[in-house]
Amino acid sequence: MKEYKFPCPVAKKCGGCQLTNMPYEQQLKYKQTTEIKLLGSFGHVDEIIGIESPFHYRNKVQAAFGKTKGGMIISGVYQSSTHNIVKVDSCLIEDEKADRIIVTIRELLKSFKLTVYNDRTGTGFLRHVLIKRAFGTGEIMVVLVTGTAEFKSKNNFCKALLKEHPEITTIVQNINNNFTSLVLGDRQIVLYGDGYIVDELLGYKFRISPKAFYQVNYKGTEILYGKALEFADISENDVVIDAYSGVGTIGIIASGKAKSVISVELNKDAVKDAKINADLNKLKNIRFFCADATEFLLAAAEENEKIDVVMMDPPRAGSTVAFMKSVCKLSPKKVVYISCNPETLARDLLYFSRNGYKVKKIQPVDMFPHTKHIETVVLLSK
Ligand code: SAH
Repeated sequence: MKEYKFPCPVAKKCGGCQLTNMPYEQQLKYKQTTEIKLLGSFGHVDEIIGIESPFHYRNKVQAAFGKTKGGMIISGVYQSSTHNIVKVDSCLIEDEKADRIIVTIRELLKSFKLTVYNDRTGTGFLRHVLIKRAFGTGEIMVVLVTGTAEFKSKNNFCKALLKEHPEITTIVQNINNNFTSLVLGDRQIVLYGDGYIVDELLGYKFRISPKAFYQVNYKGTEILYGKALEFADISENDVVIDAYSGVGTIGIIASGKAKSVISVELNKDAVKDAKINADLNKLKNIRFFCADATEFLLAAAEENEKIDVVMMDPPRAGSTVAFMKSVCKLSPKKVVYISCNPETLARDLLYFSRNGYKVKKIQPVDMFPHTKHIETVVLLSK
């Protein structure tokens, strides 16, 4: 395994990674200890599954564009809680190809005499570049986020970019002239290709548009979802709920084994993508609901629906007591809890364990090497 002798030179200013000064094996030990401290009282914590190559795993890479005081165009990340851009040409955790494309774009700006956006005055052209790469299929999407809709010599610009990087499959211009910290604006113009990419994960296809949420570590996601499915051990007569379902990934993968799947997600764009993903995989036994997971589960509990397995993947804040109360009322045989925050997970496991469920398995997965974040899959059963 390739080891870096020194921590990342911009780690402090960037703030994205917190553990770069630890060799990878030590990072895993540190995360295992954290998990045992937080979750050990519920049962045995299986050994954290590390990633074979913990560098350059991020399939989604984003760079802000700006100028130095001397007038040189730079790209990189915003120094935490400031407007200053820290120049980054290659990052330890970002996809290397994406980083090279960003450097090419920076060089092309000069030859095409295109300006960069100034977020103090709201003038100028290129604001951010967002790149998403589907590791399963190799497709690459480049999103040029611009302050103005006008894009001088855009056809030649795309041609020049494609000549350097023929592996790019689609290029999108996204216009964002708002004073906002959000990267993407509402207007989009497809300059080349389909305007989205398709990835393949555990045998299923997923369409990824510029705004769609998609897990950032491909290999890690395969491991995580694989464990979640193994724990759920779904059989053909099972009705499964996939709560906090995002673009439908977990429910879609589960639908291959289940009688039917009910997915619930609050974000309407994600639900739209999830429906497209189900069609892409020709699935008929999965339904999607755009709703607050707690309200949806309350209604399901009132109706006394027959649910065999609940898979839940809430955001960092965890779930709600009302949601968990409804789960307990629905009384599925198994609950598979996928968590990106062991602290809220511990709080929620306490509720389940006091209300008829027992923690059977705790499996940490290192989805985000070099950062302090830990993903965990837990199996609870009656
Ligand atoms: N399971 C998906 C997404 C997990 S991220 C995946 O693996 O890709 C958590 C998701 O919960 C996000 O998509 C977010 O929009 C959704 N969410 C947040 N609060 C919610 C709520 N109250 N009800 C339903 N979904 C919610």
